[in-house]
Amino acid sequence: MRFSHLFTATRRDAPKDEVAKNAQLLVRAGFIHKEMAGVYSYLPLGFRVLKKIENIIREEMDAIGGQEVLLTALQDPDVWKKSGRWSDDVVDNWFKTTLANGAEAGIANTHEEPLTALMREHVRSYRDLPRYVYQIQDKFRNELRAKSGLMRGREFIMKDLYSFTKDENELERFHEKCAEAYLRIFRRVGLGELTYRTFASGGAFSKYSDEFQTLSEAGEDTIYVDKEKGIAVNKEVYTDEALADLGLKKENLVEAKAIEVGNIFKLGTRFSEALGLTYRDEDGAEKPVVMGSYGIGLGRLMGAAVEVFSDEKGIVWPEEIAPFAYHLIALGAERTVRARADEIYDMFAASGAEALYDDREESAGVKFADAELIGIPTVIIVSEKTLSAGEDRVEVRRRATGASRMARIGDIVT
Ligand code: ATP
Ligand code: MG
Repeated sequence: MRFSHLFTATRRDAPKDEVAKNAQLLVRAGFIHKEMAGVYSYLPLGFRVLKKIENIIREEMDAIGGQEVLLTALQDPDVWKKSGRWSDDVVDNWFKTTLANGAEAGIANTHEEPLTALMREHVRSYRDLPRYVYQIQDKFRNELRAKSGLMRGREFIMKDLYSFTKDENELERFHEKCAEAYLRIFRRVGLGELTYRTFASGGAFSKYSDEFQTLSEAGEDTIYVDKEKGIAVNKEVYTDEALADLGLKKENLVEAKAIEVGNIFKLGTRFSEALGLTYRDEDGAEKPVVMGSYGIGLGRLMGAAVEVFSDEKGIVWPEEIAPFAYHLIALGAERTVRARADEIYDMFAASGAEALYDDREESAGVKFADAELIGIPTVIIVSEKTLSAGEDRVEVRRRATGASRMARIGDIVT
């Protein structure tokens, strides 16, 4: 991608209406556009990061047997009335709308009810189970406070998987498998060392739920981490009883602020009973399907990455989710420099390596400041200085460390 073709411009100053660091940096660097409070569009750079996160999540969900679907954002109130969650007194962040004929419709804040209802047409006997169904789709929630940028949107993208199993044992096995897949996801996006499986309140069907919490001062949650064991417990269930259940000792725990990037709930038969999702078991008995739900917020994950991987100059993307692997800078307007940088850009393109090429007529200062703000991991500089060291020489700078060295371009891309 040539910078001169990118329609997004960077900004020097932080937008005044943003308080969250992730929103300030992502808006300044041209990754997202704020439509209104808690509502953001993804621009080309942000969209590339989003797609990378999405692909990692998709690979891991497919690997544990997930089948991808795309459910509707407009929802039938009937299924919600059956579960008792249509009322605004029960779900306080509903967006609802009225159809032309006067009938009401819900705007998706989650998908347990419609998916459970849909599965009635596809699950009849034990042979049809287990089923693991997921989507990566927009959710709409009328959140009271939307000041955390991408981390708490009124419209946001979630991966939500729902498991449909015969019994508690099958649910338990998948629950563990998915928890491991989640840890792989957070490792792959670069948040592994900061993200802990955290025991939190479970709701009606199990004592605990699993949250995946990324350590950050920007987090809304307080957790107690056992770094040795690699697990944590949320303040909301931090009791002597819970510690005993989880085999944790108070003296090994440190208190920390954290961002909930994902969570897993055992739903049991809460929705299958309400909506009549049953199956016939091997003995011919009719039983309710046992369910679980498994969420990850893609925007929240992206926001969390910016919160924890940034410095006073800008964002410092982890390799796996960076919008590009290389940020190629042509320094100076000399024809030789331009021609060589063009050639190197063509080499990147031919090799399939992803490069953003700053071919603009801008000063070195502007180009470096933008590279630091945008945060691509490796910056490749072509200048008179590098050319005088040799046709094949470039300067390689690491965004994370600032370390710089001369290298042969042939060692980076062929
Ligand atoms: P929270 O307690 O933070 O409101 P939640 O318990 O309501 O989250 P779920 O409904 O289970 O979360 O959603 C699953 C995941 O979706 C969360 O772990 C989080 O990553 C993400 N998520 C939830 N609400 C939002 C939001 N308003 N904006 C962005 N991501 C969200
Ligand atoms: Mg919520």
